[in-house]
Amino acid sequence: MNELLLVTAGQVILSAQDAVVPGGGVLVTPEGTVGEVGPAAEMGARFPHAARLDFPTSTVLPGLINAHVHLAFDASTDPVAALRRGDPDGLRATIATHARELLDAGVTTLRDLGDRDGLVAELRDDITSSATVGPRILSSLAPLTSVGGHCWFLGGEVGDDAAIRAMVARHAERGADLIKVMAGGGRMTPSAAPVWESQFTRGQLEVVVAAAREVGLRVAAHAHGADTMAICTQAGVDTIEHASWLSGPTVEPRCYDPRDDVAELIANAGISVCPTRARNWRNWPPSAGLEDHLARLAWMAGHGITVIAGTDAGVGAGLFDDLVDLLGLYEAAGWSRPEVLAMATTVAAAALGCADRIGRLRPGFAADLLVVAGDPLADLRALREVRCVLTGGRPHYPSPVGQIR
Ligand SMILES: [Zn+2]
Repeated sequence: MNELLLVTAGQVILSAQDAVVPGGGVLVTPEGTVGEVGPAAEMGARFPHAARLDFPTSTVLPGLINAHVHLAFDASTDPVAALRRGDPDGLRATIATHARELLDAGVTTLRDLGDRDGLVAELRDDITSSATVGPRILSSLAPLTSVGGHCWFLGGEVGDDAAIRAMVARHAERGADLIKVMAGGGRMTPSAAPVWESQFTRGQLEVVVAAAREVGLRVAAHAHGADTMAICTQAGVDTIEHASWLSGPTVEPRCYDPRDDVAELIANAGISVCPTRARNWRNWPPSAGLEDHLARLAWMAGHGITVIAGTDAGVGAGLFDDLVDLLGLYEAAGWSRPEVLAMATTVAAAALGCADRIGRLRPGFAADLLVVAGDPLADLRALREVRCVLTGGRPHYPSPVGQIR
């Protein structure tokens, strides 16, 4: 891209918190950033030579952020087997396809929390250098885990403090954007601790956080158990993934332990939580406990916990185009539509440490734009009607609707 581009629309949502500009325009600089925002007519007059993308009946808003995905997992019934079988080239293709599916669905930034052999980071670098088109990727590389622990097969096993420090340093050298730690057990790994139990002590998690801070990285902690969430909070992680509040087996009757004291700790520490359980929630059987799940989400909000949007796509039949489904769950739990939009834009950007460059349309920010038919502030399902997605000012069309003239 080597010229100015003016994107105009029926309305422009500058951010989930800012005012909406009816008949608005966003000027995109040759560097791929937002130059100016304002009324389309006025900007058209001031920049008559800018290339134009006009969407008179659509809404332009900041591109969405999916804070928890696994590009390398195939969302099959046994993603682990598929991943372990996969040759590097096959895995590269899987990762690229999933990234494209997310982009098609309006996601301009994703955080990948389970890389193998640095292949996700490889795609990230190809996208950054414009060798290929895709969303911005924040990659944790292989998650740190205990020996034989949850997702050990990704290559992140650490047996003691020295191994933790060495792994974090190596990840930083290899270009990790953050550190992910499997603080608790997981369902996908039979050799790991049960899902509600911790794999690391509070002391070990403190070593993870200290080592990450030393190289300027944030820490995302996988934690389903209430106890695990408590020690993650005390250790000072930045985000808690899943946050299921489990205290025992997940077969019926499920053992939940939503602890007010831990919720207060999380809120006071400013830790963002990324609950991922949502896929196809409208069709859950009664035994899945939708009402209880909604009540726990609302309870977290009531405690002032910041919640961000992440789907765990790639795992447990979680597909790569279902962020809007998750957002609908949050609306059902009681958040307003602007608040829900913020969970996938401004609030997520802040939780990921990128609030100064993505999540809103403001001069100097990345020109990551989503164009959808309809008004997502009136009905979140409008976010499914993607007309065009721009990352760093580069237009991408899931279907051939818009045109540069
Ligand atoms: Zn995950």
